[in-house]
Amino acid sequence: MSKFWSESVRELKPYVPGEQPQDTQYIKLNTNENPYPPSPRVLARIKDLADENLRRYPDPNGIELRDTIADYFGLQRNNIFVGNGSDEILALAFYALLKQQQPLLFSDITYSFYDVYCNFFGIRYQQIPLTEDFRIAPEDYLRPNGGIILANPNALTGRFLELAQIENLLNQNNESAVLVDEAYIDFGGQSAVPLIEQFPNLLVVQTLSKSRSLAGLRVGFAVGDDPLIEGLERAKNSFNSYPLDRLALAGASEAIRDDAYFNDTRRKVIATRKQVTAELEKLDFKVIPSRANFICIRHQHANAADLYRQLKARGILVRYFSAPRVNNYLRVTIGTDAEMQTFLNTLNELLPD
Ligand code: PMP
Repeated sequence: MSKFWSESVRELKPYVPGEQPQDTQYIKLNTNENPYPPSPRVLARIKDLADENLRRYPDPNGIELRDTIADYFGLQRNNIFVGNGSDEILALAFYALLKQQQPLLFSDITYSFYDVYCNFFGIRYQQIPLTEDFRIAPEDYLRPNGGIILANPNALTGRFLELAQIENLLNQNNESAVLVDEAYIDFGGQSAVPLIEQFPNLLVVQTLSKSRSLAGLRVGFAVGDDPLIEGLERAKNSFNSYPLDRLALAGASEAIRDDAYFNDTRRKVIATRKQVTAELEKLDFKVIPSRANFICIRHQHANAADLYRQLKARGILVRYFSAPRVNNYLRVTIGTDAEMQTFLNTLNELLPD
């Protein structure tokens, strides 16, 4: 606390990201990063561009990247917005589209940045409880609202809401923006992007941090009808004209083009998830069905907070959340087969017989 802080800053409750230890070598299964490196084509392009031209500002409109993403989805440049990680895009969307008279709706268990943004921008919100088994019940969102945001697959749980259910919700909710945060969509879910042509109030947000192994490059994008994208542009150009640097714009474009590499790595993650889920069930874990690059697990007897600490002491980082309803679960990112084998062996040692 400092007397120089503004009143607004005094009242903030910042988001706390997962640990990023810079010293000890951990098996890092705590922040849903991809265990495989970025495409070699991405690294080559970035290295190639690290030259004297860095003295110049990057393209403020991100044309190469937007065109590459538009081609990928069979859409137009004006349907695509790019930003410094999907976190930045979410922030701009909260401000540009979701700050309305009526409250914004999102589930009680979801990405914990949503209420942080509401706090930051002064947005009223209502949290809608997930069902007992952590499902989103779309009918619960049919109430007056200034916007709806869903993470799909949902953060923390990995549960996927079928596209037909999202379509159904969009059919009944056409007076406010609906944002679908698809950070984890490439690990087995079905994207809502094809619905944007039918629903002018739908904004889909994705990231290159997970399925394209580029969390360190900070690139995300949003897909929607032109006027929604224009709203985001207005907000962005009132805040930061150059959120993506030259290396990020070029590297991200190359990542989208290297479809073969992308498909190969995400298939590996999906296969490992399936195998690890089966092994954990043998160890008496309940595993919430996941279509993400992580799983949310609870042991029948062992306490989650204790397991988190014991795993950390043995060099394995997973994520523990103390929030109600999930405080006996661990969220475990899917690593390589070798990392997951070490994780399973360590659990075997830790768990009571
Ligand atoms: N949405 C969800 C649901 C997430 O879990 C994350 C990752 N923490 C993000 C968005 C943000 O990812 P990034 O800013 O790296 O694109």
